Amino acid sequence: MPARRPTAPTQITAVVAREVLDSRGRPTVEAEVHCGKVRGWAIAPSGASTGRHEAHELRDTDERRYQGQGVLGAVSHVRKMLAPAVVGLDAADQQAIDFALCETDGTPDKSRCGANAILAVSLAAAHAAAAVAGIPLARHMHELLRRALLTQKSREAPAMSLPLPMVNMISGGKHAGGQLDFQDYLMVPVGATSYSEALEWTVRVYAALGRELRNAGYEGTLVGDEGGYGPRLPDNETALLYLTGAIEAVGFEPGRDVAIALDVAATHFYADGEYRLKSEGGRTLSAAGMVDRLADWVARYPIVSIEDGLAEDDWDGWQLLTRTLGEQIQLLGDDLFTTNVALIEQGIERQAANSVLIKLNQIGTVWETLLALAVCHKAKYRPVVSARSGESEDASIADLAVGTGAGQIKIGSVARSERLAKYNRLLRLEEWLGAEASFAGGEIVTPLSRVKPRTRRA
Ligand code: PGA
Ligand code: ZN
Repeated sequence: MPARRPTAPTQITAVVAREVLDSRGRPTVEAEVHCGKVRGWAIAPSGASTGRHEAHELRDTDERRYQGQGVLGAVSHVRKMLAPAVVGLDAADQQAIDFALCETDGTPDKSRCGANAILAVSLAAAHAAAAVAGIPLARHMHELLRRALLTQKSREAPAMSLPLPMVNMISGGKHAGGQLDFQDYLMVPVGATSYSEALEWTVRVYAALGRELRNAGYEGTLVGDEGGYGPRLPDNETALLYLTGAIEAVGFEPGRDVAIALDVAATHFYADGEYRLKSEGGRTLSAAGMVDRLADWVARYPIVSIEDGLAEDDWDGWQLLTRTLGEQIQLLGDDLFTTNVALIEQGIERQAANSVLIKLNQIGTVWETLLALAVCHKAKYRPVVSARSGESEDASIADLAVGTGAGQIKIGSVARSERLAKYNRLLRLEEWLGAEASFAGGEIVTPLSRVKPRTRRA
């Protein structure tokens, strides 16, 4: 499409797309949105342990290229369908852009053009608008959230803040070659007093955990897709023992300084109403059995958050889980909600979970993601902005988390540059925004009754 001369500085003059590779070496869509000479770019991420209700990621079926994983079709849809729909629109009007993208696609799950194509354009437009204004994307996201909240009749937008990170330490499930059924064992530096301190503590524990695993004979422990260790531990609980041990090994007090979070990703070992634990000899648990297991762990380990403790469509189980643990810890819905406003509203109504994982590509546009955040904010369901297991140098989620004052972020481990791109971006935002964005801190995830007093460490 030939570039036009813009009439306003944020008017979109051209959209370009190409196939690039993600952190697993799999093709994904990169888009550029041009406003005259200024451009914004974005790369769509990709999940492996995806929820059934996620927007559709379009892949070529040509087995001769990238084992059928190519995205040339999605790229061509950007050129032929999505670009003509948004050229001429105002990049600063995210709602209008995303409406035009969704209308052009015309399907409920974005399967015609592909959510990967749609998200890349949507997010690149946000970048272009921020670039024209000469502001960090975080600041632009803050303004967009304010507008999204107004559509929900809420005038009170959260202040920008640096998020508390929830960091992958041991990976199992679909993300690693080990044999753990549960997907992520994460640490949460609840006692840290700033984002940069939280990051330094995290690296300390990550290194100690590597040493402990090697000393125990898990030599050559490969890292999983998100940079967490992937040891072949004998069972699901042993991972908790190692993680707690590593926290103590560097002198932190589990629970007070550094707490634990889990992403059970239970959808992926649920079939016919039962949870089948391969690493425990194929033993099966009912939803009530899973709730008992998780409640027992919460009583014995400093766990402050559990994601997808039950499967995506096990609503009765989720209600039981929430009745049992919802007052004590954060219960985070990922596959359960897929960043979808209708599903989040259903969760609020049924009192299932108390927190929502926010992933841009689960729903496929920036505006719909902001609406999901607005609904969480109104209902006091805590949002956790999250990366996917397939990522890239695109660090937009750091700005999304800061700008919307989400309070928490989940990026993966402190290894592999597609993860560090986001952690480093947060360091820059911490410096640039200064007092304008304070650190969310441990209280965001832990009711005060469970956080022991903070102590400063030398
Ligand atoms: P995914 O995993 O990106 O592979 O879906 C992340 C998660 O389950 O939180
Ligand atoms: Zn998850």
